[in-house]
Amino acid sequence: ADSVTADPATPVAARPTGDPLLVLSGVNKHFGSLHVLRDIDLTVNRGEVVVVIGPSGSGKSTLCRTINRLETIDSGTITIDGEPIPAEGRALARLRADVGMVFQSFNLFAHKTVLENVTLGQVKAKKVKPAQARLTAAELLERVGVADQAQKYPAQLSGGQQQRVAIARALAMKPKALLFDEPTSALDPEMINEVLDVMVGLARDGMTMVVVTHEMGFARRAAQRVVFMDAGRIVEETDPETFFTAPSSERARDFLSKIL
Ligand code: ADP
Ligand code: MG
Repeated sequence: ADSVTADPATPVAARPTGDPLLVLSGVNKHFGSLHVLRDIDLTVNRGEVVVVIGPSGSGKSTLCRTINRLETIDSGTITIDGEPIPAEGRALARLRADVGMVFQSFNLFAHKTVLENVTLGQVKAKKVKPAQARLTAAELLERVGVADQAQKYPAQLSGGQQQRVAIARALAMKPKALLFDEPTSALDPEMINEVLDVMVGLARDGMTMVVVTHEMGFARRAAQRVVFMDAGRIVEETDPETFFTAPSSERARDFLSKIL
């Protein structure tokens, strides 16, 4: 009964192209009396980059957190690669490895070196041998351009470097998809592009990504779709060019007039 494809009225069924990896259907979430996610239907296909944009408090972070089950939902279904999100235990740990998350506030382990930050999860959650984990970590640090910082501690790095380490750490788990929640909004302006460039590279390499960001340049360079949220609803869902030049909803026009 909780199979998403069983309901032909959902947008999922109306969009026959692609290969669905993340599917949210009829998702609702409350915090007490506050209805934060309202009937959310969203499909993210394998290899797709979806940018989520919207005013503060519209439910963007909560949406990301429900996909990773950092928050439970009250109704609806979320499936990842065809499987419902497990409630707990090893299956949930596996899901967290499959869907990486990069937060606004880097969240690195402060008392571990950069290399250890990217090695630990592989060894603990994926049972990779330490020597192999270090090799993978070194490759990923190279890929995000901070190989020369491997032996330092997070506090010795700039914000942009720390966020790139956080991306490497997420990649080390070999995720099927990555969620980014405002990954550049805590950064000084001169560091934003070094992080966005890494993300654009991931997009080009075919990583499936959900990115909460107001960075229009990133959306235009890397995203297939923009999802505009307001007051817990998906109000508009379109390609980036249309969204930024000719949004169809009054609420999106009003929002864009404030951020652009
Ligand atoms: P956004 O990321 O778009 O700014 P959020 O998803 O963080 O929005 O929050 C949506 C709404 O839910 C806001 O009104 C926020 O205050 C509220 N909220 C978020 N997390 C909690 C929580 N843990 N408990 C209660 N209310 C919350
Ligand atoms: Mg948020």
